[in-house]
Amino acid sequence: MAAPLVGILSKVGRQVYRPWSMCQHGLRNRSTLPGMSTEQAAASGVSYPPLQTYSEEEGMMREAVKRFAQERIAPFVSKMDEYSHMDAEVINSLFEQGLMGIEIDPEYGGTGSSFFSSILVIEELAKVDASVAVLCDIQNTLINTLFTKLGTAAQKEHYLSRLCTDMVGSFCLSEAESGSDAFSLKTRAVKHKDYYIINGSKMWISNAETAGVFLVMANADPSAGYRGITCFIVDRDTEGLQIGKKENKLGLRASSTCPLNFDNVKVPEKNILGQVGHGYKYAIGMLNEGRIGIAAQMLGLAQGCFDHAVPYTRQRVQFGRRIFDFQGMQHQIAHVATQLEAARLLTYNAARLKEAGRPFIKEACMAKYFTSEVATLTTSKCIEWMGGVGFTKDYPIEKYYRDCKIGTIYEGTTNIQLTTIAKFIDKEFDI
Ligand SMILES: Cc1cc2nc3c(=O)[nH]c(=O)nc-3n(C[C@H](O)[C@H](O)[C@H](O)COP(=O)(O)OP(=O)(O)OC[C@H]3O[C@@H](n4cnc5c(N)ncnc54)[C@H](O)[C@@H]3O)c2cc1C
Repeated sequence: MAAPLVGILSKVGRQVYRPWSMCQHGLRNRSTLPGMSTEQAAASGVSYPPLQTYSEEEGMMREAVKRFAQERIAPFVSKMDEYSHMDAEVINSLFEQGLMGIEIDPEYGGTGSSFFSSILVIEELAKVDASVAVLCDIQNTLINTLFTKLGTAAQKEHYLSRLCTDMVGSFCLSEAESGSDAFSLKTRAVKHKDYYIINGSKMWISNAETAGVFLVMANADPSAGYRGITCFIVDRDTEGLQIGKKENKLGLRASSTCPLNFDNVKVPEKNILGQVGHGYKYAIGMLNEGRIGIAAQMLGLAQGCFDHAVPYTRQRVQFGRRIFDFQGMQHQIAHVATQLEAARLLTYNAARLKEAGRPFIKEACMAKYFTSEVATLTTSKCIEWMGGVGFTKDYPIEKYYRDCKIGTIYEGTTNIQLTTIAKFIDKEFDI
């Protein structure tokens, strides 16, 4: 059975050899300067390891999560998809392994690892199940990060310690009328003495079925437009909060997606996360990071699908030969493998840039956009490579095909990623 990550990390010790640490240090100090030439780098003693280089800690986490996903998640995947329900044992095992608080400080009971480790974990989980990956992704890249960056001492003490042990969190921005145009949201928060009353509704809220806490974006000053948007911490048992019936979805079925209704929900002022009116900044900031998590989810999903399909093509015989031996098949398989490699490099590069404190928004959008396209291509091709059986539920390929579609929609649709990338390009050509 897989050992908890906290145990693995303590085995490695905090003084681990990190091939990236020297680069990160150098790059953080030069975040606004143009890149160095390799000659300059060599002269200054800075080395540039290949992107697919992991620190000892990252490598161990990756291997441990790979084993964990096979042992503790894979047996549940098909049933969870069929019944649209995340098994409690799967959620408990994620907490047990330290995978729900990867970057949370050990002071609060977290694993105390890095953003890049979170990306590797999401990738490994998605190879086995994209729904489990998104549960882990939202918790680590959105919820925990918001509490860590913005929480008061009391909020951190209360929530961070729960988020890494037994509490799932949900991120609540979208509404029926505001999706891509997220900041036109209509949910309102009205101040009364030392509390706020929230009225309105949210849509598409992931993990709402099991969440113990909801980070809710509501406008506390509509006269200021989007500058009135504020982030509120709303506990599940708060009176007036109703969690609606979960959506019946094409894919990602084990991940619950529910509407929420707020009917005079009373929230104490001390439950504001960060500053009043800064919610839009927090949402943009978190989604920029979160997109790298979704890229990792799409990358893992595509790789997982590929890893199931290729062995089949090496075994299946037609016309007296393995179907892998036909050049028509080989070229398609090589093309998809190349796309996967490119998707991995984009994702890891965006994650490393973010970790190094360098600008990463354009690269995060590119990674999310591209990995979603690659996941669509890969899963579709894998079905074709397996012929009729690829189209049945006897193999997991059709599930990967259904699960991948969400990559082009949530945390900003593909069009929104492309618009952001184009904005950066436009600026880069400004003189
Ligand atoms: C399974 C699932 C889970 C989700 N989880 C969460 C969650 O946990 N929390 C949360 O807050 N939200 C969540 N969402 C919501 C998700 O982020 C939105 O669905 C997404 O932002 C798109 O919004 P929309 O569905 O309203 O589509 P729309 O915004 O109506 O877009 C429809 C189409 O119009 C295009 N379009 C819109 N505006 C433009 C433009 N300016 N330029 C070009 N094209 C444009 C879009 O690209 C898209 O193709 C989830 C959604 C799903 C399906």
